[in-house]
Amino acid sequence: MREQATIIVIDDEKAMRDSCCQVLTKDGYRAETAINGDIGLQKIRDIKPDLVLIDLKMPGMGGMELLEKIEDIDPNIISVVITGYATIESAVEAMKRSAYDFLAKPFTPDQLRIVIERGLERRRLAIESARLRREKEMMKENFVTLVSHQLRSPLASVKQSILVILEGFAGEVASKQKEMIARASKHIDFLLQLINDWLNMSRIESGNLTKKFEPVDLVVILSETLQLLTPLADARKVTIELNLHDSLPMAVGDRESLKQAFTNLISNGINYNREGGTVTVSTGEEDNDLTVEICDTGIGISEDNLHFIFEEFFRVKSKETQWINGSGLGLPIVKRIIEAHNGSIRVASKVGKGTTFCITLPKKR
Ligand code: ADP
Repeated sequence: MREQATIIVIDDEKAMRDSCCQVLTKDGYRAETAINGDIGLQKIRDIKPDLVLIDLKMPGMGGMELLEKIEDIDPNIISVVITGYATIESAVEAMKRSAYDFLAKPFTPDQLRIVIERGLERRRLAIESARLRREKEMMKENFVTLVSHQLRSPLASVKQSILVILEGFAGEVASKQKEMIARASKHIDFLLQLINDWLNMSRIESGNLTKKFEPVDLVVILSETLQLLTPLADARKVTIELNLHDSLPMAVGDRESLKQAFTNLISNGINYNREGGTVTVSTGEEDNDLTVEICDTGIGISEDNLHFIFEEFFRVKSKETQWINGSGLGLPIVKRIIEAHNGSIRVASKVGKGTTFCITLPKKR
């Protein structure tokens, strides 16, 4: 059986309140009334109705003000404004704000019924879609927990055991076996990286990032990032050149995420480079923005592929890239992090010459 909907009629005109109530009660709704905006608002707070009929012109708190307050209490409460012919413009104005519909006086019981039914259907759909959204979010959260605990932890312990074997702590290992175990270890590294990237992606999507925003110094974050990447650059015989400002104004953001974004971009600049190549990291200022440019002398990206590099799991397939491990999630993560900071990212590239990523982030006000 359908639950009885509650409707409040807020109107200073007694005849209007009575006639609406009569129709609503006859149709099986629970009808309440209020003679002005203040009493109406109190009743809305106490009862949390499904729908409110509001006269736009009332002494004291007007319908427009009431609409805004209802929106703050519960945006799912449907507001329908009642208006005279002379104030039809204000009815339109009310709908632009948060009213769902309007009834022009005088109206028949059937016109009232149609508007009420339409409003209640709209509320039902809004509540249902919010429920589905919540369910989807929960499923995603559960999945993230499952992946992180059920997949990452056992993989990390397998990796640990492999290292013990490789180091010879579990007994002597023949060189052929060592070779095979080392290869297995690399595959596990790749899987762990994939899981970490995927978890990072979910973390950014859940919107938790902005909660940790604080004033940040991009030069400090970049310097810390570069320190971590020096061994990789050395191993690949790539030189890192720095062009960092001494006193760059502060930005606002989440340190760890920004570090992650710079790590992804600079490590790409190293990995997709050539022996003897360079990666130049520069900072700059443009009006209200700060800029970070990461420019490499590597293999470059063709124009066709450039359109797709920010898409999840996209990787360029070529002779040069086939030996480079990656999940195809690095750049989508960077883009989301930068956009969560109200910034933007641009890329320019030439095959065989190199690639430049330019990030713009707002200065701290
Ligand atoms: P991956 O984990 O594969 O590196 P990314 O999302 O970071 O994933 O990058 C997507 C693809 O874009 C890479 O597979 C690579 O082909 C290309 N790419 C990214 N950065 C560069 C770069 N600096 N130079 C050349 N190619 C790049």
